[in-house]
Amino acid sequence: MKIKIPKKLKIGAIEYEVNMVAGLKLYRGNWGEAGYISHTIDIDNLLPDIDRMATYIHEALHVIDSEYVCGIDEDNIERLGNGVLKIFQQLGIEFDWSEVE
Ligand SMILES: [Zn+2]
Repeated sequence: MKIKIPKKLKIGAIEYEVNMVAGLKLYRGNWGEAGYISHTIDIDNLLPDIDRMATYIHEALHVIDSEYVCGIDEDNIERLGNGVLKIFQQLGIEFDWSEVE
């Protein structure tokens, strides 16, 4: 099942704009970034689909952590992200990026 990733993801009271960014890894050193001031989730546009999905989940978890003041550190965001990805894979869920490319 393909799920269309919306251009804006609302978490808590705030909408985060999802962007595929050229050169994110090259110029800023990250495959993905959550911008808590800019309200953006940026993902490097060169990532293959599975890594793009993992990065989107990871950055969305950072936003959840921030908006709901969970206090989850980077390592645990990574672990949670990997777990959520595994669940989605077992459910046969794939992401459709057509709205954010
Ligand atoms: Zn992170």
